[in-house]
Amino acid sequence: MKKLINQTRYRCDFCRKEYCTEAATARHEHRCGSNPQNEFACGCCVFLKEVEKEIESEYTDYNGEPIIRKKRGFFCLSKQQRLYPVSAERKGLVDKYPETFEGEEIMPKECSSWDFSKRAVMPELPTGVVEYTK
Ligand SMILES: [Zn+2]
Repeated sequence: MKKLINQTRYRCDFCRKEYCTEAATARHEHRCGSNPQNEFACGCCVFLKEVEKEIESEYTDYNGEPIIRKKRGFFCLSKQQRLYPVSAERKGLVDKYPETFEGEEIMPKECSSWDFSKRAVMPELPTGVVEYTK
């Protein structure tokens, strides 16, 4: 057994996670939930719903029809707006697959509609927007 002393450790600037290498720490800081760059107001908000999102694949089926895949998306009942998470932008997905995020807005950092109370008056999902089920 070796006792390691005086080792260099790196700590995230935003939370207190520690890593052995600078690269690992930088990678973590980039996606750290405590990094203000990654903040969004929708967490715990009653108006945020998981909804189905249809993504047209570049491939077609035997009949030449485009293959539609169902994915999980987000919808704000208060704003009546489809949303995508901050992580999608951070990972560069929004630039890479703009058609996947068409008509959607990034989850806001601050929101005047944010509510966690169960008594909130819940607007309906508009027609055509379906709640996501696994
Ligand atoms: Zn962190």
